[in-house]
Amino acid sequence: MNRSPTDADPLAPLIASVIRADVRAQSAYHVPDAAGMVKLDAMENPYTLPPALRQQLSLRLAEVELNRYPVPSYGALKQAICREQQVPQGYDVLLGNGSDELISIISTACAGEGRKVLAPEPGFVMYAVSARLAGLDYVGVPLRPDFTLDLPAMLAALEQHRPAVTYLAYPNNPTGTLFDAQEVLQIVAAAAPFGIVVVDEAYGPFSPHSLMDELPRFNNLVLMRTVSKLGLAGLRLGYMSAAPALLREFDKVRPPYNINVLTEAAALFMLEHLDVLQAQAAELRAARTGLSARLAGLPGVDVFPSAANFVLIRVPDADKVFAALAARKVLVKNAGRMHGLLQNCLRITVGAEHENAQLLAALAEALQVSSSAPN
Ligand SMILES: *Cc1c(COP(=O)(O)O)cnc(C)c1O
Repeated sequence: MNRSPTDADPLAPLIASVIRADVRAQSAYHVPDAAGMVKLDAMENPYTLPPALRQQLSLRLAEVELNRYPVPSYGALKQAICREQQVPQGYDVLLGNGSDELISIISTACAGEGRKVLAPEPGFVMYAVSARLAGLDYVGVPLRPDFTLDLPAMLAALEQHRPAVTYLAYPNNPTGTLFDAQEVLQIVAAAAPFGIVVVDEAYGPFSPHSLMDELPRFNNLVLMRTVSKLGLAGLRLGYMSAAPALLREFDKVRPPYNINVLTEAAALFMLEHLDVLQAQAAELRAARTGLSARLAGLPGVDVFPSAANFVLIRVPDADKVFAALAARKVLVKNAGRMHGLLQNCLRITVGAEHENAQLLAALAEALQVSSSAPN
């Protein structure tokens, strides 16, 4: 149905009386139209599955009984994840419809008068969005200008705010930084008397290091991952692990049938063929090295180190370069206005070889256009 803006007016009183003021003031999560573009804005794996595997998967999915509800314990899938993802002995996982849902579950379970959520900034925006929707106060602590953790500032903020939840993306989005592991663990230890620390390893497949093994050492550590960046973003499946007693509390908040039967079946199938996705991740890690070096060779481009499947760069004028790239049918993320520390930064997903080549050619042109064009 098409509504012109004036059609909405009769609804205004109803909306004002029903919808929360803070929700009305918010703008919806914006996803740009990528039709016809080289899509390097959303950290997707550019590769599809080999045809033979797709065939097998389709047969598997055809067997799924769509008339039945899922069995809400998801035992087989959880066991496969625990086995394939090195979850420590005696530890279980909780599944979410993407890690976005896990973040909502954490917010709902922890919300309360005066409760706070803390995270370094710039970071993943859903931590703050989800916290505020649940009625939690959100505290952002700036990273250093090189996007490493400001440990003294983090420890001081923990002391001052005593947040129920602290988020650390490891590696971090949108910077690609892999924080120092000892500093992360110091933060976990410092928060132990009053709060949990969620280590978000969404980019784990591209990182040289994981904190999964640390789970048994810290009762307040929550380890969160997703299959999205590994190559299954469309499935919508995230999981988290923590001390069993803590995980059971979060499970009470989870909608009972939150993982649909098609996702469950497809994820089980892909866990049997994890080597395919892991090989793709290895290719992307190698491509990241090549792309970073070529980006650094372009005049006026600063490249930040990345342990993820994207690279953050700084250019002289991000708005102009972004527009010139879009005009050349290359879509990246203009991060320049997301945070003060990200001025003139663009976030570029590592793509397939031909996509990276297209990006590099377009970027070389875009930098020239943007430096010569009048303001
Ligand atoms: C992409 C991303 C997620 C979201 O993952 P989904 O499982 O697709 O919801 C979570 N955390 C970080 C840091 C991300 O960049």
